[in-house]
Amino acid sequence: MSSLPFLPFTRPSLDEATIAAVGDVLRSGWLTSGPKMQAFEAALSDYCGGRTVRAFNSGTATLEIALRLAGVGAGDEVITTPLTWVATANVILEVGARPVFADIDPATRNIAADKLAAAVTPRTRAIIPVDLAGLPADRDAIYAIAGQHRLRVIEDAAQSLGASWHGKPIGSFGDFVSFSFHANKNLTTGEGGALVLPPDVDPALCERLRLQGVARSPSGDMDVDVLGGKFNLTDIAAVIGLGQLPHLSAFTARRRALARRYFELLDPRLGLALPLADFENSNWHMFQALLPAGADRGAFIAAMKARGIGVGVHYPALHLFSLYRRLGWKEGDFPIAEDVGRRIVTLPLFPAMADGDVDRVCSALSEILERR
Ligand SMILES: *Cc1c(COP(=O)(O)O)cnc(C)c1O
Repeated sequence: MSSLPFLPFTRPSLDEATIAAVGDVLRSGWLTSGPKMQAFEAALSDYCGGRTVRAFNSGTATLEIALRLAGVGAGDEVITTPLTWVATANVILEVGARPVFADIDPATRNIAADKLAAAVTPRTRAIIPVDLAGLPADRDAIYAIAGQHRLRVIEDAAQSLGASWHGKPIGSFGDFVSFSFHANKNLTTGEGGALVLPPDVDPALCERLRLQGVARSPSGDMDVDVLGGKFNLTDIAAVIGLGQLPHLSAFTARRRALARRYFELLDPRLGLALPLADFENSNWHMFQALLPAGADRGAFIAAMKARGIGVGVHYPALHLFSLYRRLGWKEGDFPIAEDVGRRIVTLPLFPAMADGDVDRVCSALSEILERR
């Protein structure tokens, strides 16, 4: 139906120098974790104001290891949002703890501070706030609640690298901060992640948990004193991250400009609920709108696809997935997250998009939604 090239909802921006650097690693004879991973960790640490950063092979692994480093396990509760990528809650189950969900604030679509506070019990050990679409969850409120109840905070900042809070980059302050470098994230290594460590955590323990619990001494001796996994980042991936990082602020600026254009061009009469218009803190990882109540999302996505435009769904409320229903959650538990999760769509937004691509998406929205 459309003669224009397909416009995906996201696409990574990789320059030729980065692609060539991957070739250099492949020719170097050292493919797995080595000098490139260490250089990437150092560059991330610089970005995070000198804090200790360790790289991982996914953002899911960083969250799981952060929970282990925080001492979270069987019998503990961890509070998080039901409106996130399912990894956020899966890792809580993975370490044997129980997720406790608190409903979202409809304006930010992030965990609501009052509901978070009300969910704290004597068994609560940690909070995992999520910065949906790159809009930071309320750090002031979250750290106030954590301080009051002596809870650890593991910031799931998978989507918010490049975002900030009161002028401070996400990652440069706080307790544990977890990033993902999945292909769809604002900075990618194909697959990968990084964990910013608080000062009371031993980086050597983090490294052992990352790789089979192995500790090597300079004399060549080896010991294993803790059960670790297989979560290390390859140099092939790390060199991609090294090529991406210098572009991060330009990526964020371009995303913000495209988001502004959506706000300018979207017809308010279409009945879409737009995201919070934040141009201070958010890195605009995604531009997400809610379809009018009762709209058929599947039909909408198909109609956009017929016009050559990709639309994503991030995310249905996760407590309604079969696994979580089997654990006791049900419809009506978190009504705001459920409503948002049923209506939300992710429109195309990535740094290489042209202004005209936003115009094209807005015209398609007008055609499709006015026809309903
Ligand atoms: C992407 C993502 C993760 C997981 O990261 P992976 O690198 O895919 O393992 C966790 N939480 C959120 C909110 C994410 O968007």
